[in-house]
Amino acid sequence: MILDLSLKELEEYVLQLGEQKYRAKQLFEGAQALKELQEISNLPKSLKEKVQKDYFSYEVAAHLVSKDGTQKVAIRLADGSVVESVLLSYKYGHTVCVSTQVGCRMGCKFCASTLNGLQRNLTAGEILLQVLFFNKLLGGNLKERKVTNVVLMGCGEPLDNFDNVTKFLRLVTAEEGLNISMRNISLSTCGLVPNIYKLADDGFSVTLTISLHAPNDELRKTIMPIANAYKIDEILRACDYYFEKTGRRICFEYSLIEGLNDTDECVQELAKILRGRSCHVNLIPLNSVKEKKLLGVSRKKAYVIADKLQKLGISATVRRSLGQDIDGACGQLRNRVGGAK
Ligand code: SAH
Repeated sequence: MILDLSLKELEEYVLQLGEQKYRAKQLFEGAQALKELQEISNLPKSLKEKVQKDYFSYEVAAHLVSKDGTQKVAIRLADGSVVESVLLSYKYGHTVCVSTQVGCRMGCKFCASTLNGLQRNLTAGEILLQVLFFNKLLGGNLKERKVTNVVLMGCGEPLDNFDNVTKFLRLVTAEEGLNISMRNISLSTCGLVPNIYKLADDGFSVTLTISLHAPNDELRKTIMPIANAYKIDEILRACDYYFEKTGRRICFEYSLIEGLNDTDECVQELAKILRGRSCHVNLIPLNSVKEKKLLGVSRKKAYVIADKLQKLGISATVRRSLGQDIDGACGQLRNRVGGAK
């Protein structure tokens, strides 16, 4: 698919088609503006015919706007798979939350994305498409970019789709592309340790966000199957390595579940394991998922916990909860069959 290719790769591609190299730029700009092939007026018909089979296609299966302004789109891809993405608008810019897989195989007990397991990995171009979609919707283009930030926090585990995700990071940060800076990108993972090292070694300096959700392995195992594969200790060592390599402060997500991980002991233990590290804790009152029995804490309680952590020397804030009424908040994204709502 054309959006999987960098400008350089597109140049090789057009040469292979027997076309001139400069056509690549025209094709690149047209595709990244999400134009239909027919709409790219500076390309000859003969080239369009050759490119047609590799061009992208998608449909908007659903588009919802929350009362807080957050937007969610369900995009039906060429093979019929549906992916959900969210646009969060702030005073300082626009953030797109992208999905990296159709479904997810991590099996976290509180998350909607994993309910039907993993269907397939998304390609780099399919992840990029989600960002380009909102950039276009906001009236932006490659020269006048509207999307300022990207978070890999939608459906799927980004580090379980490492090659496509890193390719996406290269595409979205490319100077000739959307040119979004690495520091404006957050990648959230449940903690696939070997790939945290790989990300650092491959020179990616995105903000690494770890879904921790528990201060010890026993408790973590009850809600996150991945805890059976990697210990918190190993995750923290990988985070230290990532910090050394990139100088980027690590963010820890901690979704607060009533009566489970919100106790005083948990807060003390969390502070203890994170003490001395350059990090930030983002507290998220669990968002409700109708198939799940777990309950979130009140925002008031979350603020009390943030305060306790601060007093214990750990930087902590409560994440704003946006798009809850359109199932667009953390852990609520899924690949709805047919995109129906
Ligand atoms: N697979 C990646 C990306 C998902 S990002 C990861 O695990 O980090 C989504 C974030 O929301 C993760 O921190 C995830 O654990 C959290 N989350 C999942 N379900 C949630 C829910 N119902 N309420 C609040 N947060 C949730």
